[in-house]
Amino acid sequence: MSFTLALVGRPNVGKSTLFNRLVGKRLALVDDQPGVTRDLREGAARLGDLRFTVIDTAGLEEVTDDSLQGRMRRLTERAVDMADVCLFMVDARVGVTPSDLVFADILRKRAKTVILAANKAEGHAGEAGALEAYSLGLGEPLRLSAEHGEGISELYSALMPLADGFAERAQDDTPETDVDIDEDDEDIVPVPTRAKPLQVAVVGRPNAGKSTLINQILKEDRLLTGPEAGITRDAISLTTDWVGPEGDAVPMRIFDTAGMRKKAKVQEKLEKLSVSDGLRAVKFAEVVVVLLDAEIPFEQQDLRIADLAEREGRAVVVAVNKWDIEENRQEKLKELKESFERLLPQLRGAPLITVSAKTGRGLDRLHSAIMRAYEVWNRRVTTAQLNRWLSGMMEAHPPPAPQGKRIKLRYMTQAKTRPPGFVVMCSHPDKVPESYSRYLVNGLRLDFDMPGAPIRLWMRGQN
Ligand code: GDP
Ligand code: GDP
Repeated sequence: MSFTLALVGRPNVGKSTLFNRLVGKRLALVDDQPGVTRDLREGAARLGDLRFTVIDTAGLEEVTDDSLQGRMRRLTERAVDMADVCLFMVDARVGVTPSDLVFADILRKRAKTVILAANKAEGHAGEAGALEAYSLGLGEPLRLSAEHGEGISELYSALMPLADGFAERAQDDTPETDVDIDEDDEDIVPVPTRAKPLQVAVVGRPNAGKSTLINQILKEDRLLTGPEAGITRDAISLTTDWVGPEGDAVPMRIFDTAGMRKKAKVQEKLEKLSVSDGLRAVKFAEVVVVLLDAEIPFEQQDLRIADLAEREGRAVVVAVNKWDIEENRQEKLKELKESFERLLPQLRGAPLITVSAKTGRGLDRLHSAIMRAYEVWNRRVTTAQLNRWLSGMMEAHPPPAPQGKRIKLRYMTQAKTRPPGFVVMCSHPDKVPESYSRYLVNGLRLDFDMPGAPIRLWMRGQN
């Protein structure tokens, strides 16, 4: 069930970046400057259980209205003719440009199937541009962030039915599963609208800056619903409409462990107290913000609370505070990322945000990270998608055969959300090694766009 996908669009919209993500190797060149000369390139792409050929038309000189002759047009047309499906990419941050219109025209006339994508739309940043893209008359644009891996599961959902069509035409006999699978074909279910404020806990060692952060959120908050900032400091939780980067006010109930500490009159050892505070806060929260002090990050206490949040199945965002006093930021960030991966592998892919609670810098990014973590935490993948994915995963890397008996993974379904939990029905569930479960969990995170989610996976036998 193979098909060819062409990535089409004007220079600098992110085609190479997406190509790299789909091919999984750094084959194509990525450059900030448009006009790096390249030709069509092909790669073997993988997206969940889909295997296909991807063609990148990147590397053309910047187009102006009247220069879209010659090489540019020929190259694009060649790619379009070779492809079964074209992914037409526009830049959601820039909006629709005259060059985009010329490409849209070529595609409308020539392409067999077109999927429209508004790229660079991470964290809702490209909403206006994405809306503008409707005007191209190529249907609803898929919101994509090639760079951050957002919208990849939506791309999968868009390609999957097409891939199935090609498979049928090719008379491809997909292997039968011996169990009836619930073939609901709805897309990934969107996050339900909240009836109550999003529950957020800010946890971290004493002096990490929790009080300062919460005060800053309240100060910046243009639609304050709770009591006034400054008066709220002794409260255990406070409700506020935290206005995000796009001006969207999100009702949040923020659990304030620093406030709790101040409220507890008894003078306990700080560490002990902050851990038990943290515990309560984590249990209350949907999203846990682990606040680190940039000067002394990933201390024992930080690791304990982050691990606890993961074990409790909470969506986790790691925020590194006091970034304003950091001098060597680039190097420090690299170090932080390395420490994060090494010390908290269970939170792989969870966002690491730098902030300054004091100046308020980075708070927008924190807001976006919280929303995104929450969205991923609520993600639901259909049984049909999961089973196509599972067979791809088994093909790429078959389960082991302990004592010569091959473990059979029969089918898979999502049993719960918040956090996402999956059940795999298999033979010898107790013999599936930890490493194979990890392979599946990491694959789920990657292929269904659930970075950092505390995914649960259960192996079950059949009676
Ligand atoms: P192409 O050659 O025109 O396909 O574009 P590239 O893949 O070379 O990307 C152009 C620039 O956009 C590079 O600096 C990328 O890092 C950046 N870019 C690509 N995808 C995204 C995205 O999803 N978000 C953001 N913010 N930047 C992106
Ligand atoms: P908490 O114990 O976690 O609530 O920490 P506080 O909010 O009381 O902050 C501890 C100390 O760190 C105070 O002296 C703050 O002024 C300082 N602080 C907090 N956030 C920042 C920041 O972003 N930058 C700098 N330079 N100092 C900060």
